Amino acid sequence: MRGKRLLMIPGPIEFTDEVLAETGKSTLSHVDPVFIEDFGQALEKMRSVWLSPKGQPFVVAGSGTLAMELAVANVTEPGDEVLVVNAGYFSDRMADVFRTHGAKVDIVPSVIGDLPTVEAVRKRLGAKKYKVMSITHVDTSTGARADVRGLAAAARDAGVLSIVDGVCAVAGEELRQDEWGVDIALTASQKALGVPPGLALLIAGPRALDVFRARKHPVGSYYCDWKNWLPVMEAYEARKAAYFGTPAVNLVRALKVSLGQILEEGMDARFRRHALGARAFRAGMKAMGMSFVPVREELCASTLSAPFYPEGIDAGVLRLVAAEGVVLAGGLHPEIKSKYFRIGHMGMSEAPEILATVGAIERGFAKAGYRFEMGAASAAAQAIFSEG
Ligand code: PMP
Repeated sequence: MRGKRLLMIPGPIEFTDEVLAETGKSTLSHVDPVFIEDFGQALEKMRSVWLSPKGQPFVVAGSGTLAMELAVANVTEPGDEVLVVNAGYFSDRMADVFRTHGAKVDIVPSVIGDLPTVEAVRKRLGAKKYKVMSITHVDTSTGARADVRGLAAAARDAGVLSIVDGVCAVAGEELRQDEWGVDIALTASQKALGVPPGLALLIAGPRALDVFRARKHPVGSYYCDWKNWLPVMEAYEARKAAYFGTPAVNLVRALKVSLGQILEEGMDARFRRHALGARAFRAGMKAMGMSFVPVREELCASTLSAPFYPEGIDAGVLRLVAAEGVVLAGGLHPEIKSKYFRIGHMGMSEAPEILATVGAIERGFAKAGYRFEMGAASAAAQAIFSEG
């Protein structure tokens, strides 16, 4: 492959030529009329991708963790009671971010690869008055997908603000922010949004902004304070320049291009394409005798898969798969880290990339000495793609 390996980790991912070309252009001034127009369009298009016509988008230079902090820092105050729906490594991180900003954190527990039920969460919400609840849409450490619709409804019914960590979900998994009543949905550029790493993004709904405006204490972070960023976002959307921190000019322009490509595909078509690719990939792994970290099929995400290594195979196999042209990721959840691996199949990845990945896994696993019927995984994935 032109000496290039396919990057099939759960972010960063493969990006389209058009997006990459945009990042390589001469950098414009952040007050250049061309950039102002691009930033304005990017903010408008975010609403269509998040399906949040009423929301306020924010785009700030940084990674997904900054997006988590941009959400938490602005709607929680010291002493606030918050509830974290446990999902794995990244929900633990969200709990840490809440604690950093002085919140008192309760956790609805779950076992690895599973998620608390909506009923269990409703019960917890009924037992104490919480201000905010966080949900990790897809926890990248397990590949399990939360029922965001059901959980957000539970939060709303209890009068609790919901924050959805959609870093491994937005623009890949179905999310209808306004219809589902999600108050803040956040992500990062390098995943299903299809832009190289470096942008933290979120959309805050009207209730989240009301909670921010009604704060009694100042926000405990200068860089994260919406007071500094809101006028900037509003200005660019009104096609005027404004400054707080220098925007990541090339990435924001690439974002506009990627969001345009996403909307050209259409959100429903995009959700279906991701679900199909994931199903085809899983069919391939199952044909090789592998099982997955999510404890039930319906929990398996569309954006990434997390298979357990089969008997006799360990993380050393990933080097062999890379030698076959495809880069995969190892385990992340500390309790099972050495037992499983992870494959991102989001953004522009579809049948060509997914079939190349399944083929490289077959060749790499065969070289590692795993015995299986060579070609069976590719055939199983092909069958799903050709059924459609
Ligand atoms: N949340 C989730 C669900 C993630 O997958 C990640 C990144 N893998 C993050 C948060 C943190 O994002 P970043 O690494 O860009 O800071």
